[in-house]
Amino acid sequence: MTDRTEAVTLHPETRAIRAGRADNDTALAPILWATTTFVTPTVDEGRRLATAVGAARFYSRYGNPTVAGFEEAIAQLEGAETARAFASGMGAISAVVLGLCSTGDHIVAQRQLYAGTQLLLQTACPRFGIDVTFVDGTRPGAFAEAVVPGTTTLVLAETPANPRLDLVDLDEVGAIAGPITVVDSTFATPLVQRPLDHGVDLVVHSATKAIAGHNDATLGVVAGAAELVNWLYSFAVLQGANASPFDAMNGLRGLRTLGVRLERQSANAGALARFLEGHPAVAEVRWPGLESHPQHELAARQMALPGGLLTFDLAGGIEAGTTFVEALEIAQLATSLGGPETLVTHPASTTHVNLTPEELLCNGIAPGTIRLSAGLEHPDDLVADVAQALERVAAAG
Ligand SMILES: *Cc1c(COP(=O)(O)O)cnc(C)c1O
Repeated sequence: MTDRTEAVTLHPETRAIRAGRADNDTALAPILWATTTFVTPTVDEGRRLATAVGAARFYSRYGNPTVAGFEEAIAQLEGAETARAFASGMGAISAVVLGLCSTGDHIVAQRQLYAGTQLLLQTACPRFGIDVTFVDGTRPGAFAEAVVPGTTTLVLAETPANPRLDLVDLDEVGAIAGPITVVDSTFATPLVQRPLDHGVDLVVHSATKAIAGHNDATLGVVAGAAELVNWLYSFAVLQGANASPFDAMNGLRGLRTLGVRLERQSANAGALARFLEGHPAVAEVRWPGLESHPQHELAARQMALPGGLLTFDLAGGIEAGTTFVEALEIAQLATSLGGPETLVTHPASTTHVNLTPEELLCNGIAPGTIRLSAGLEHPDDLVADVAQALERVAAAG
């Protein structure tokens, strides 16, 4: 059975275990091709490889068999013709933005974005004369209304989005005609939602998160139609943010357990969300699986699982947030998400400490906002940890 026959007959969880081994010979586990260059038998073959799109055995900035295996696996899981891996999620996103847009072009992006993406659009784009309009991605019709026919080249959405797990209707983004539509699907992974099935042109991931899944690989990927990804490839080879073979191997390792990890993380996040929702020290809980999430129905429609991320606001503001994250014993204070360890961030005292209260609010962050990425621990231990940290908040207040 070829990889692509499997793509239509097997469930995604099964494909995730088998995909991306085309160059494996009889080895079961993915092979690490730790080489920068490949010997070319003839001048003609060297010329062919130097000018081909995606050559996997020429020079590793152009392509590499381990990286190609990861790209093939992601393409298969997203239902894409092809994919290109990058050194990080930002490597992928900057290639999409700077590889597809030129001076005079216009981008429509949502306001609710990963901070790195937002900074790229706010700082690099103006320097290159690329105009960006930010919209509220949760408001129906917001993206389409902001598109300027003939001028808008790119529509950029992220769902679920940082930091409040706001959702964007994938059918709506997929229906936009004219500009290239791109969805950052990092929080979902290809096992939870498939933007290309909704008509979206390109899907991007920070595979650093749940896909590689063990907090030991920095990796990004773009998947979509060959025409678009191959166009990006010519820029990516010069940009030089190519994925390392080692990280790509860890991406393939992560994919093999992604299905079971997502189920456990989603269940853990649900247990925590339900505990927090009834707690007097907590003002608001955001998890797409809660009936109280403003887009609960949309989540049920386009996501296979609500996911392992939740956001909540402590009523006691900045002091409560600081006390809470320092009192946690199992959950750890660290940026990133989707790994085996439960991690929390308190943006107001860490990543966003320089913002004014008004600016914080504009980014959907309250002084007591906590983002939690549920790991693979036992749910009872996680709930007990959060409960004792909230008691410390109450004692301090
Ligand atoms: C982490 C993240 C990124 C950036 O990925 P890196 O691998 O850190 O470069 C982009 N988008 C989202 C939604 C993320 O969570």
